[in-house]
Amino acid sequence: MTSDVELVQKFSDVYGVSGFEQDVVRLFKDETAGLGELTIDGMFNAVLARKENTGKQPLVQLDAHSDAVGLLTQAVRPNGMLKFVPLGGWVPSNIPAMKVVVRNKDGEYIPGVVATKPPHFMTAEERNAVPKIPNMSVDVGSSSREETINDFHIDTGCPIFPAAKFEYNEKKGLLFGKDFDDRLGAAAMTDILQQMSGKQLKVDVAAGLSAQEEVGMRGALALARKLNPDLAIVLEGVPADDTFEPDWLSQTRMGGGPMLRDYDTTFIANPNFQTYITSLADELGIPYTRAVRTGGGQDGAAIGNWKGVPTVVVGIPVRYEHSAYNWGSITDVRAAVNLTMALLERLDMDVIKRFTAL
Ligand SMILES: [Zn+2]
Repeated sequence: MTSDVELVQKFSDVYGVSGFEQDVVRLFKDETAGLGELTIDGMFNAVLARKENTGKQPLVQLDAHSDAVGLLTQAVRPNGMLKFVPLGGWVPSNIPAMKVVVRNKDGEYIPGVVATKPPHFMTAEERNAVPKIPNMSVDVGSSSREETINDFHIDTGCPIFPAAKFEYNEKKGLLFGKDFDDRLGAAAMTDILQQMSGKQLKVDVAAGLSAQEEVGMRGALALARKLNPDLAIVLEGVPADDTFEPDWLSQTRMGGGPMLRDYDTTFIANPNFQTYITSLADELGIPYTRAVRTGGGQDGAAIGNWKGVPTVVVGIPVRYEHSAYNWGSITDVRAAVNLTMALLERLDMDVIKRFTAL
């Protein structure tokens, strides 16, 4: 495996859901050791200021979010199963029968499964019903509330993580695993920091690994307030549409290169910056798609809207986002990394001024 695939593997396998991102931050800290100064706040937002920053240049906030969608234990039922609330946007029908791990009060990871009644016991009506999250449970193999609380050390507030192991199809460059939204972005950002180490730029770069995106872009907003950037580039695992949209309407394709987002329901890219990055991709021969979405949202909204700074989103296509199992392509990760590095190398005060010119 090449080093970038290894990075994707590490970031995919690590457990981190909204509000419980510590393990992802620890990985980022290890992988960026020696590359700059890392600061971590009380929300577990981590920001790495490159060692090469001068403090006198325009500041670019790079962003990837550390959290992924998951579940949170609300209460232990009398039969020992866990009633939970969703963290982030789930389709209820994607949750049942999912393998999970629960982090108990001692910090141990306990395997479990989202319980379903065996079909043998279901009425026809039950089989056709749309499942409702408040009626679902996680089963860790316990048979009573006392056993779950006293023996498994699981109770209210314990986070629940999807549990899928990363796999790589080397021949096809295919990535399979969980949490590609936004661990592909986190791996790409880490790769960029590693590859650009020692390189002098005409901008300072603060790489923010932000928490709690899936519950309302909270970490990116906190970081933008603190960093006060002049510009933002968001690296985001974005939902692929190539399995169901016709070619003419498909705007995010696995293997199709980065998706440069024009519009979603929270965000409109700065048009001058968007033109600059698409022209750069054209010049470098990097394939990409542009996307005008009818839904969705991402950290670009939080950062861009905070102080009105020019912002673009470099999306990495992910099939089956917000489910436990994702597909992605290493070629898309590499294209996003190369485009972002080329962009950082060209940015300076004059270029940035052009983004706000009338
Ligand atoms: Zn995301």
